[in-house]
Amino acid sequence: MFHKDHSLLSNEVSSTNTMACPACREIIMASVTSCRFCGLPIDARTAAQANAAQQALNSAIIQANALKYAGPIALVIAVLLVLNTFGAMSDGRLLMAWLAPPIAIFASWRWTHRHGSLLTSDSELALSRKNVRRSMQMWCAVLALELVLLAWAALRLGLSVNTQPH
Ligand SMILES: [Zn+2]
Repeated sequence: MFHKDHSLLSNEVSSTNTMACPACREIIMASVTSCRFCGLPIDARTAAQANAAQQALNSAIIQANALKYAGPIALVIAVLLVLNTFGAMSDGRLLMAWLAPPIAIFASWRWTHRHGSLLTSDSELALSRKNVRRSMQMWCAVLALELVLLAWAALRLGLSVNTQPH
């Protein structure tokens, strides 16, 4: 058990000590004094900057991966909203379903705001950008459905108030 924890820790340390060479983009150890691919001298400041850029890129990709299931989840939420509106599932816990679209749109917007301008030709980041954009579009569609359902529910409420005997 202890041994396993220890190896996990050292894996983590070694992965944070690698970086992309600022000149040739090959992955090298941050502790070296020159790039073994192109020979670029690596001083401590260059290494720290490149390492920070690599960390930012990694965290952007990890966050975008969390949006991978946005499509199926958005579809389930849309079905729940319709069921909730038409009374088939009038459960108060479905309130969370109504909150999901704005929350998901905010999360996608925040990712774009923070990481969308990362200047890199990294193909994984390009894929992440595409996934975030797609997630944003799907959730905007669910939000539009939500607004239509709310308008419909408000209209129905208005009608039932008007038709009550006075
Ligand atoms: Zn290099």
